[in-house]
Amino acid sequence: MHIRFWGTRGSLAKAGPTTLRYGGNTSCVEVSMADGALIIFDCGTGAHGLGQVLMASGKRPIDGHLLITHTHWDHIQGFPFFAPLFIPGNTWDIYAPGGLGNRLEETLAGQMEYTYFPVTLEQLGATIRFHDLVEGTFDLHGGRVTARYLNHPALALGYRLDVGGVSVVYATDHEPHTRDQSHAVDPNASPSRALEVHREEQGHMAFLSQADLVIHDAQYTAAEYPQKVGWGHSTVEYAVDVALAAQVKRLALFHHDPLRDDAAVDRLVDLGRQRVATRGGTLEVFAAAEGQVVELPEVGQSPARPVTHTAVDVEASATAHAAVTILIVDDEPDIVRLLQVTLRPEGFRLLAAHDGETALQMARTERPSLLLMDWQMPGRDGLEVCRALRAETDPQLRDMPVVLLTAQSKNEHVEAGFAAGVTDYLTKPFYPAYVRSRVREWLLRKRVETP
Ligand SMILES: [Zn+2]
Ligand SMILES: [Zn+2]
Repeated sequence: MHIRFWGTRGSLAKAGPTTLRYGGNTSCVEVSMADGALIIFDCGTGAHGLGQVLMASGKRPIDGHLLITHTHWDHIQGFPFFAPLFIPGNTWDIYAPGGLGNRLEETLAGQMEYTYFPVTLEQLGATIRFHDLVEGTFDLHGGRVTARYLNHPALALGYRLDVGGVSVVYATDHEPHTRDQSHAVDPNASPSRALEVHREEQGHMAFLSQADLVIHDAQYTAAEYPQKVGWGHSTVEYAVDVALAAQVKRLALFHHDPLRDDAAVDRLVDLGRQRVATRGGTLEVFAAAEGQVVELPEVGQSPARPVTHTAVDVEASATAHAAVTILIVDDEPDIVRLLQVTLRPEGFRLLAAHDGETALQMARTERPSLLLMDWQMPGRDGLEVCRALRAETDPQLRDMPVVLLTAQSKNEHVEAGFAAGVTDYLTKPFYPAYVRSRVREWLLRKRVETP
């Protein structure tokens, strides 16, 4: 497996003398498999250079698979400038998180409307096949792709590629699931216990598990993080901690902040390496640099990883929103209103309750697809309602996703919530974009699990 970084910058392309070594182009990583298959992670401005090189190679046709994490600008702005898409005879499969009506093709066509760009999506010469993905696993040539939702204020997927006994994970635009990262400011402090108690952190580590290379969001430092909560990005310290815990071999710090010059990125690398050394780990840490190549020799068959379900083309996920009911439960009317205002444009059927007892009754009669519920309420609190639901015999109630709304992010609280059967947390104060992406994620996960 041959990996080449074409764009390593996050948020905004930053060309100029301060970013010469690590590069100024936004997210784009090329992966060539030993059998010649071409896979590209994200299509930021770095895709322009990759397209030029592919065109100059003389190889025809130029076919490939483009795996997009999400459609924020820094991950798709190179799409209209990726030359192989203009050539008849080429075939491109394009994958991105889909579902709930927000289709990939429409989104990509949106940035190519006449107002923004002279060529429309329909005018591209290549055969383009769009695939709306949900979390899951699918085969691609001789390899296997696993897609997993990341924690970001837009529905975003990370990708893991296992092929020929080697594995690379591309996990960018991801924020720690636990808001309190204060422990990480001290280089000698042990990693947060949140990595052990938060189910979503465990899921993230399983996704990274024993990978040969993890390309991970590391836009900020733990010291900067309190000012960046809710922006959807990781710290170097968190990236190192999860990579160590997941027994990863090499970690490429990625999605460099546009304000960070080359010397500042060097300091992030030092910070990460020190953290590994303090733990006595063997993890190799470097910062992804534009033009850099990593070779991972394919040595044999891919390890057998269970196919949970096919992640591709889940047409069911495009069914009307109107069918989806969400029950919002909070004794503070302002929170209920905020969630209603946030979720109403998505077209969901929204129900509200202001105490636990009513919530439980409504869950039984209305059978919502998702419960967004406050922890502390008069009478039955959120945990009691959750325990009651988990004790039901009807699987629709027993397995109903329950996302707990709480201002508490201490490990003891998180642990108590998961023990009560809570599916996930939304920490107050929350941001509308995060609410939307978490809700979409849980609805899509739920949908796939139910045959
Ligand atoms: Zn980004
Ligand atoms: Zn993003």
